[in-house]
Amino acid sequence: MQYYNTLIEAIGNTPLVKLNSVTKGIKGTVLAKVEYFNPGNSVKDRIALKMIEDAEKDGTLKPGGTIIEGTSGNTGMGLALVAQAKGYKCIFTLADKQSQEKIDILRAVGAEVIVCPTNVPPEDPRSYYSVARKLNEDIPNSIYPNQYDNPSNARAHYETTGPEIWRDTDGKITHYAAGIGTGGTICGTSKYLKEQNSQVTSIAIDSYGSVFKKYKETGVFDENEIYPYLTEGIGEDILPKNVDFDMVDHFVKVTDKDGAVMARRLAREEGLFTGWSCGSAVHGALEYARENLKEDDVMVILLPDHGTRYLGKVYNDNWMKDHGFLESRQFATARDIIT
Ligand code: PMP
Repeated sequence: MQYYNTLIEAIGNTPLVKLNSVTKGIKGTVLAKVEYFNPGNSVKDRIALKMIEDAEKDGTLKPGGTIIEGTSGNTGMGLALVAQAKGYKCIFTLADKQSQEKIDILRAVGAEVIVCPTNVPPEDPRSYYSVARKLNEDIPNSIYPNQYDNPSNARAHYETTGPEIWRDTDGKITHYAAGIGTGGTICGTSKYLKEQNSQVTSIAIDSYGSVFKKYKETGVFDENEIYPYLTEGIGEDILPKNVDFDMVDHFVKVTDKDGAVMARRLAREEGLFTGWSCGSAVHGALEYARENLKEDDVMVILLPDHGTRYLGKVYNDNWMKDHGFLESRQFATARDIIT
């Protein structure tokens, strides 16, 4: 018999899939690493497992303990799955810009969810960072993994995502692209890949409204760069410890609209029903690829999560129209074409 003892064993070893349609006109091979194949449907299962197992190893997490995290949803799902398999409780704080689906999914898998305001600074006591920290102080036998600053986050990618990409491309990868939020995915993976071949170019996809790109280019933390935006999971108004700017060669900023439109194209043209930031990652990576990729180059773009979490937004035509994101020709009905 071949089976997993718990879902934990199904984390990682996600497939690389060639992009054939959205890449028209681009030289080289562009592959997507499709992280929705993880049991929690996102890349964050990897860091959830690593953060919990490292906390067990260093003795900060004891049997029956509570895991508290400020999460945009995907990390919560990963932590909830791993916590169930290992017998821990979960409480998550998240910002109210996150989709209702994400909140419902976390509650469905048994976590307590506390929704906090989006448009307050991180140090405000109402922010989801501050609320998570306070709960951690107040609840005995609790841990606050803090994916932003916890080195187990980037290490999970250094130990799993990087080696899988190197193995599956037979060491032929030349460019690696991923969205940047906590920085764990892009920096941990890039560190491993650059150690194998220092020529591998790493491209982080940032959002308009976020501080990263300007900081890399000028060394200045420019508060004027910060403004509210809608894309979930990428861009920040803080500099998390998991961001190692030496591991990123280029930053590309993507708008909410460009990310959303590309996510819909991935679903329609490639059959990849992915999350909003996956559209952002592909849009930004292809912008770079169009100018820079050569015939023999191999680019891998990491797609963090699944489309179901965005059904009420990116995959809802009315929501897209309300935000001015819909190109009407793209959505012509059969009736429009006949008449
Ligand atoms: N996309 C989504 C949907 C995410 O939840 C995250 C995590 N914040 C990212 C991209 C960025 O990944 P990382 O935090 O590893 O930089």
